[in-house]
Amino acid sequence: MDNIVSLCKRRGFIFPGSDVYGGFAGTWDFGPLGVMLKKNIMDAWWHYWVDSRDDIFGVDAAILMNPTTWEASGHTATFADPLVECKACHGRFRADKLVKGANESITTEEFKNQNPKCPTCGKSDWSDIRKFNMMFKTHVGPVEDDSSVAYLRPETAQGIFTNYKNVVDTLYPNLPFGLAQQGKAFRNEISPRDFILRDRECSQMEIEYFVRPDNWEKEFDKLLAENNKFLTEVIGLDSAKLTHYEVPEKDRAHYSKRTVDFMYKYPNGEEELMGLAYRTDFDLKNIERASGRSMDYRDKNTGEVLTPHVIEPSIGVERLFLAVLTNFWDEEKGILHLPDNLAPYKLCVSPLLKNKPELVKKARKVYDALKEKYTFVTWDDSGNIGKRYKKQDEIGTPKCIVIDFDTLEDGTVTVRDRDTASQIRVKPEEL
Ligand SMILES: [Zn+2]
Repeated sequence: MDNIVSLCKRRGFIFPGSDVYGGFAGTWDFGPLGVMLKKNIMDAWWHYWVDSRDDIFGVDAAILMNPTTWEASGHTATFADPLVECKACHGRFRADKLVKGANESITTEEFKNQNPKCPTCGKSDWSDIRKFNMMFKTHVGPVEDDSSVAYLRPETAQGIFTNYKNVVDTLYPNLPFGLAQQGKAFRNEISPRDFILRDRECSQMEIEYFVRPDNWEKEFDKLLAENNKFLTEVIGLDSAKLTHYEVPEKDRAHYSKRTVDFMYKYPNGEEELMGLAYRTDFDLKNIERASGRSMDYRDKNTGEVLTPHVIEPSIGVERLFLAVLTNFWDEEKGILHLPDNLAPYKLCVSPLLKNKPELVKKARKVYDALKEKYTFVTWDDSGNIGKRYKKQDEIGTPKCIVIDFDTLEDGTVTVRDRDTASQIRVKPEEL
């Protein structure tokens, strides 16, 4: 993991947030290469789930939502972590992270029976556990009182549910259909850690897939297979590093009848990469109660009226980003074996020597012609050719095109392959 973090900083994928001011815990900034890789990952997801299907549609809801949203969804009451404070050094920690095998519902009694040591000062003098709500609170408008409280959304899902009725009334989609959204979500983690795995601000890609209640099992299995296909074939993750964890009933959210966590073997150990949850009609019924508006769906052909049930595939962009980097990074060779669809740059053009004007001029011509057609071409004339190959290998560029002295003779250019280091010569128009 340290190697990945260092690669990210060295090559401009990810920097610590607010780095120049000493950082800001739980935040990370994407640099030039990171922006491109992240966008390619998000575009691949959007293309696979939305653009290439005719049953899933996009929405892009506001980050600030009416606070009733979070009352209705249960977040105001229950989106909380167990917090304990060390009475000796006043360090604050998540209680469940200090006790082996514990989860978020750990009680003060269970915690004190184990009596763990404070990770900071080593003493064992603890406060009672209190629930700490992880939503970021803010105020809307110029008056900072209880009536102006709003929250940065802790998940993108509610922005989909609150638009369900609008979409049904305007698009009249047939069941089953889905609504997809990509966007930022915010969680005030007590102790952010593990690089970008647990940060306070993250991007999510979520789909709420609306199905007939009697058909949820079939649709769940279908979505499970499609998500597998996305992760292994579209993104190219090694299927040996992916496992499915059937979440047992006692650990599931109370409304979920089935949840499968897709686990990925990160360098630090296995972590949740994405979740697939059957949420029943929990959310639509909550909105119905809180808004007083019917969430009924009327079948166009049969006239049947029902409330759809929901299956939700939810994936964190940063988690997938990190899975991609660790999956394709070869530390020994210093090569990032990104598939073509994800590589920030697909082609790099350079003159063999940058102090030979005739080579530079010819190389510029080749570069300009490619750049006119494709955005994914980069130019590199820094250092010597060996250093350039090394750099392009590290950022995952599949092919390097070099204009050398043979080019001036016969017009062909060298194309060097990242993964094999093999070279062929082709005419520029064949590129
Ligand atoms: Zn302490």
